[in-house]
Amino acid sequence: MSGFTGKFYVPSDEGFVEAAFSRVFNHRRPTDRLPSAVLVAENEQDVVAGVRFAKENGLAVAVRSGGHSWAVWSVQNNTLLIDLGNLNSAEYDEATGIVSGGPAIEGGNVLDPFLAERGRFFNGGHCPPVGIGGFLLQGGQGWCQRGWGWAAESVVAIDVVTADGELVRADATQNSDLYWAARGAGPSFPGIVTKFHLKTRPRFNHLFHSVQVYDIADFQEVMTWMYEVEPTISPDVEIVCVSLCPPSVNGEPRQRVYVVTGVALSDSVEAAKEALAPLQTCPIIDRAFENKVYESSLAEQREDQLRMNPENWRYYADNVWVDGEAEDIIEALTPVFTTSPEPDAFTIWFGNGLMRELPDMAFSLQAPAYIATYLAYEDSANDARNRAWLNEAMVAAQSVTVGQYLGDSDMTNRQLKFMADANFAKLQDIIAARDPEGRFVRYLAKDPSTINKNHWQL
Ligand SMILES: Cc1cc2nc3c(=O)[nH]c(=O)nc-3n(C[C@H](O)[C@H](O)[C@H](O)COP(=O)(O)OP(=O)(O)OC[C@H]3O[C@@H](n4cnc5c(N)ncnc54)[C@H](O)[C@@H]3O)c2cc1C
Repeated sequence: MSGFTGKFYVPSDEGFVEAAFSRVFNHRRPTDRLPSAVLVAENEQDVVAGVRFAKENGLAVAVRSGGHSWAVWSVQNNTLLIDLGNLNSAEYDEATGIVSGGPAIEGGNVLDPFLAERGRFFNGGHCPPVGIGGFLLQGGQGWCQRGWGWAAESVVAIDVVTADGELVRADATQNSDLYWAARGAGPSFPGIVTKFHLKTRPRFNHLFHSVQVYDIADFQEVMTWMYEVEPTISPDVEIVCVSLCPPSVNGEPRQRVYVVTGVALSDSVEAAKEALAPLQTCPIIDRAFENKVYESSLAEQREDQLRMNPENWRYYADNVWVDGEAEDIIEALTPVFTTSPEPDAFTIWFGNGLMRELPDMAFSLQAPAYIATYLAYEDSANDARNRAWLNEAMVAAQSVTVGQYLGDSDMTNRQLKFMADANFAKLQDIIAARDPEGRFVRYLAKDPSTINKNHWQL
């Protein structure tokens, strides 16, 4: 196939299947989906040519930036898959503090070190190789999101290839419908973003980490305290409680523990320590196996994330936004935090702080706490058991669930609400106007007619 600078594959080409799954993080891959062709774009002009090619050949278009969608949204039938992996460079404008980057830039591995050299910070995702493309489009739960907002709130403009194959700029004053949609539509954005323009902030001077490790049997007592203290803690602190099994010591069986962590990004050591101090008030702190507060770095935090999410493993992920009385929430969440069948599975409780009004953008559903489970394992023989356990644990959480975050969702398994009704309706109008022929794939879901509803409320 000519007309592209990048590589183009059809199923009869050697390397087609590798190209179809290139850089896909989750090794539990779909077996019933494959694109009709793959274009590994070299530059923006290839993306334009790819969309026009798809239009001429009656194909839909699917997109891959960093390849970290748990549900592998980029691999869909009857599509041209446009792989944006080569659109991964960044430029920084000192006069405005805006960094412009390709969608495949790895937020932690590439963008953060690039900004660190310039004394700047963008609150990107926690796991270093995640691409900024999918991450930002669905909202972006980045470092210190609790206080510093969703990463998509720092998008000031995007460059987009539309369904007609035109490359346009979208921001608050031009193509503002696309700008609105790009901050939350996730994998149903009616276009391909070839560049994000992001507001940065001055870099923090110190990162302090508070870690307390409890017996998993203390889950309910620790969480009862956490629900009291969390709203009082500075917005400069990220608070995550994690159920996990540390590595075995001396060949002993691995034991699940409950870890309370706080990360403070501050200008001074004193401010960081002061911000973390309320975490020392847990009434059963004397029972903690470990309690430390120490100076760390984002590089060290990234290493931890990589250890928790090994490459080439199989994953199931699911998540819920929860709200209600603390007692009811803790009871409903006990199974998901305490009973996982896989030693390398971990479940997080992510404090979202006091609810504030979000800017006008597609992303519009959040709650005071976010719960996500990541079942990491290697043996495909455990697929069915793991799927069943996760589904059951999520059913137990249903009474306190208000919806889900797209980033850790898989709507081919179960569908939940992820956007306010008015925002979802507006997004459907934008999609209908911008992409009437359905050039770009929509949400990959079990039942497209019941999207954005909690399945038990239908
Ligand atoms: C190990 C791991 C850690 C994670 N940590 C976090 C975290 O800390 N915070 C968080 O919020 N999320 C996190 N996630 C979820 C992650 O943000 C989402 O899976 C996100 O979709 C990944 O983006 P990507 O570009 O790497 O994925 P891809 O699979 O490449 O993209 C996902 C989908 O997004 C759409 N898309 C992507 N790029 C474009 C584009 N340029 N134009 C149009 N559509 C596009 C497409 O529909 C595409 O199929 C994590 C995921 C993993 C696997």
